[in-house]
Amino acid sequence: MKEIKRILIANRGEIALRALRTIQEMGKEAIVVHSTADADALYVRYADASICIGEARSSDSYLNIPAIITACEVSQADAIFPGYGFLSENQNFVEICAKHDIKFIGPSVQAMALMSDKSKAKQMMMRAGIPVVPGSDGEVPDADFAKNLAEKIGYPVIIKAAAGGGGRGMRMVESQKDIEKLFWSAQSEAMSAFGDGTMYMEKYIINPRHIEVQILGDEYGNVVHIGERDCSMQRRHQKLIEESPAIILDEQTREELLNTAVRAAKAIGYTGAGTFEFLYDSKDKKFYFIEMNTRLQVEHTISEMRSRLDLVEWMIRIAQGEKLMDQSQITFSGHAIECRITAEDPKSFAPNPGKITKYVAPGGLNVRMDSHVYEGYSVPPFYDSMIGKLIVHASDRQKAITKMKVALSELIVNGIKTTKDFHLNMMKNPDFISNSFDTNYLSKH
Ligand code: ADP
Repeated sequence: MKEIKRILIANRGEIALRALRTIQEMGKEAIVVHSTADADALYVRYADASICIGEARSSDSYLNIPAIITACEVSQADAIFPGYGFLSENQNFVEICAKHDIKFIGPSVQAMALMSDKSKAKQMMMRAGIPVVPGSDGEVPDADFAKNLAEKIGYPVIIKAAAGGGGRGMRMVESQKDIEKLFWSAQSEAMSAFGDGTMYMEKYIINPRHIEVQILGDEYGNVVHIGERDCSMQRRHQKLIEESPAIILDEQTREELLNTAVRAAKAIGYTGAGTFEFLYDSKDKKFYFIEMNTRLQVEHTISEMRSRLDLVEWMIRIAQGEKLMDQSQITFSGHAIECRITAEDPKSFAPNPGKITKYVAPGGLNVRMDSHVYEGYSVPPFYDSMIGKLIVHASDRQKAITKMKVALSELIVNGIKTTKDFHLNMMKNPDFISNSFDTNYLSKH
């Protein structure tokens, strides 16, 4: 075991603050890097040292590998915490860290490489005996190929970007007449978003639930799961509300799903925190692997609330060479819900950055507001519009919904528009309350 003493956080926003807290609670030093647009951030004030690494544009700062590595060397950080987004799934960055003898707090570059191309990841999982959504065996090179394959698979199908993320580069196709047009539009979106136009195809699962499993793996081949999350409340394939457990699952199916994820992680020798995402067809109680995220996710908090484990702490402990606990030592209780609060219009979801003139965060027993904002803070227009995550935990789902309603009504953010009212309405929505929704709910309502 090699103790990590000083960790550089190569990220921004709420996750930078969330990681900083754990690092300092562990008695380690937290170094933060920031762009010129984030000089006023809270975590810059709380950090043991902070370094400005460039201009506001991500490519000049949070994606600027030489600047981040230099910041590590100047501050003598021995490890990097990548968070989510930015460089967290960049294999080149992981290799550069290794060359500079900086510990990347995350999986090995090999495991990352196996899962980074979503189409290849599916092939790999199929070989490991994990159920996957039926579809193309690898890449779909062009629209003609797509047309022939869709006939075989049967409409509706979904064309997806192998490098995809954030719901981009994805098109559902209902019939042959649209396939050519939609193939090209998905591919051009993938090209501009990821610089990679590799496409693949899946059978479109009608009205599925999105259920994922949080896992942790250590350097000795041990893997545990930290339960499942239901992330079916989405807008344009992007998660808005997450909860745990997924109460749609019966006990037997849940066991199967959790064990499948552990088996999948073992099959690729995974270390660190990761998530296996599945689509769940509630009609026949079948689940299908869609992708693995080789990083900490936004919604990790609800798993923390149910297990009372700090996942960032475990990522760091694993990176130090510590052994994981046994699965039997991990217990789960109650129900947790997370609402992603973004600086967006609650109806149109149009971004609305700007200065926060008043801010009051909710509180109380088992209410957690993970946010980097404060009164007087200006939400910069350059990055993701998420300004915080409101998380509650209660003994059951009904109580958690009520708690979330109270917490949301306490939240005050003036000066900018936020999605608070959207969430408040959802907590009162009979379909949400009765758990009768799927990933397409918002597109239909
Ligand atoms: P991304 O990496 O962009 O998040 P995912 O593959 O994780 O893309 O899919 C995101 C969402 O898109 C899913 O949660 C689901 O709502 C929808 N989706 C993806 N694949 C399918 C499919 N085969 N059938 C139906 N919906 C799908």
